[in-house]
Amino acid sequence: MLSIKNLHASIEGTPILRGINLEVKAGEVHAIMGPNGSGKSTLASVLAGREEYEITAGEVSFKGKDLLDLSPEDRAREGVFLAFQYPVEIPGVSSTNFLRTAVNQVREYRGEDPLDAVKFLTLMKEKMKLVEMDQKLLSRALNEGFSGGEKKRNEIFQMAMLAPTLSILDETDSGLDIDALRIVSNGVNQLKSKDNATIVVTHYQRLLDYIIPDFVHVLYNGQIVKSGTKELALELEEKGYDWIKDEVNSNA
Ligand code: ADP
Ligand code: MG
Ligand code: MG
Repeated sequence: MLSIKNLHASIEGTPILRGINLEVKAGEVHAIMGPNGSGKSTLASVLAGREEYEITAGEVSFKGKDLLDLSPEDRAREGVFLAFQYPVEIPGVSSTNFLRTAVNQVREYRGEDPLDAVKFLTLMKEKMKLVEMDQKLLSRALNEGFSGGEKKRNEIFQMAMLAPTLSILDETDSGLDIDALRIVSNGVNQLKSKDNATIVVTHYQRLLDYIIPDFVHVLYNGQIVKSGTKELALELEEKGYDWIKDEVNSNA
């Protein structure tokens, strides 16, 4: 589904990603871990197509298409979803209107009929249950005054509505209390299918107690320096990142 080859990216002339290689197949969950500042959010942003990053080398193909050639909007329509990519607060725009527009754009792109108000509401109620979300939230402006936990739920809810092929969740666990963590993780787990894939970017092992990854990768200094299974996440929790840094530096 997603194939990243030797990806290099810079911001304001500073190289951040220094040769990322990653293969993600349908049905898989990949966790990307790593110390602060290693480039995890940069990778997520580059995949979503944020414009402040300059791609200096490498290739990314998504479902056989050159992802780097697509605008952020077309990436979203192709089924790439980055939690956090949607604006944090838009005063005066209710989540409902925002979402209906987004969902119908995706449907149009896929050649499907737009959902009328009734069908949309039915779908919305079904997906709100998935994240145990209070329906009152929908009449509030998008994310305006949402608590940290509500914002995260809203992201997973948006994800459920858009049914992406590839979801990228960046630090979805930061600021989540244990209930919100469980709800968000449940949502992600229930949305998992053989046809979609998820990349979970996280600093903390504890999220991976809930979202069980098929693969865990350690990003350090702009490269994936180690890959393994969920056991690797447990090892990182126990031993920290220093041993990985030592391994990398002794091989250099
Ligand atoms: P992580 O998510 O792994 O903590 P980031 O991808 O956020 O790491 O950042 C990687 C590096 O890129 C850091 O050194 C950070 O300071 C730098 N960086 C990220 N965004 C910017 C930016 N907009 N301008 C300048 N430097 C940035
Ligand atoms: Mg960070
Ligand atoms: Mg980050």
